Amino acid sequence: MTDQRNTSVRRWLKGLFLKRMHRMITCTQFEAFVLSYLDGELPARQRSVFEWHLRLCRECRDYLAAYKRTIELGRAVLGPADDSVPEDVPEDLVKAILDARGR
Ligand SMILES: [Zn+2]
Repeated sequence: MTDQRNTSVRRWLKGLFLKRMHRMITCTQFEAFVLSYLDGELPARQRSVFEWHLRLCRECRDYLAAYKRTIELGRAVLGPADDSVPEDVPEDLVKAILDARGR
């Protein structure tokens, strides 16, 4: 009897859960937002939808972890981002790059 009640409660919860799922993003959409999420550029509402998906989807948790590892690996290989210009770079070259950036 108790088992039967548990089963119907579980079924009801599952139905509720699946209804809410429609408002969620898909795994493909999740992947498209990963970079913005990591850069802290997602608006609060999108971020909460994103994090909700993250809580429920193991594949996307693994994907995000792998993504972060890839970024860390890239940083380790390329070194930290450094915007300062080495002293032996010709002044003309620096000026040309800055001009090109400004365009
Ligand atoms: Zn997912």
